[in-house]
Amino acid sequence: MAKISLAERTTPYLDEIESWMGKLPTLDIAQALPHPERGAVISVDVINGFCYTGPLSSPRVAGIVAPIRRLFQAAWDRGVRRIVLAQDTHEPDAVEFNQWPPHCVRGTAESETVQEFKDLPFFASLLVIPKNSIHSGLNTGLDAWLAENRGVDTFIVVGDCTDLCTYQLAMYLRLRANALQLQQRVIVPSNAVDTYDLPVEAAREAGAMPHPGDALHALFLYHMALNGVEVVKEIR
Ligand SMILES: [Zn+2]
Repeated sequence: MAKISLAERTTPYLDEIESWMGKLPTLDIAQALPHPERGAVISVDVINGFCYTGPLSSPRVAGIVAPIRRLFQAAWDRGVRRIVLAQDTHEPDAVEFNQWPPHCVRGTAESETVQEFKDLPFFASLLVIPKNSIHSGLNTGLDAWLAENRGVDTFIVVGDCTDLCTYQLAMYLRLRANALQLQQRVIVPSNAVDTYDLPVEAAREAGAMPHPGDALHALFLYHMALNGVEVVKEIR
């Protein structure tokens, strides 16, 4: 009997996920943040090293800078004062460099927040939380901040990459709320999240693992939704 390939076995599911993506709702900022004094926006890794320069920068990822900037402005105008930037700020000899090429070392331009965010008039009010792994909550200031801000009832999570740091952060916030019996929403607007693409041929040449950007973006958003993260098309 002929073996049926993974691609063939998976086609109906991928079609379903694509259809699901096409039907994601758009939320008005007031629907996403009915109580702005209890809302927070957390953006992960929207820094030069993933958007513009360095071995892990990606033009796809740079495409989320403008939508996130608009979201920050909309949230700020609505009265949200908790906007957090979790950012790779690696040790020069980071253990993570066993898995990924050296990137976003502290003190370098790669580890800096993108200029588009720095240009926001309220940028000085944003809280930067440095991190040294793809998990924003491990050995960082996030847990202390979450403990101090226990009254937050809605987290909007944006940034990159969909299947890496963004996934880890959104899932962490969702699972933490579940574990602690906190009635908190975790919302991910898909237009403010993306991941990189590394085609099979290019990956072989580089000695890296191929990375199907469109597929992993969709699958990881779907997986977040499966776990109760509110995945929406856009918040405006
Ligand atoms: Zn990193």
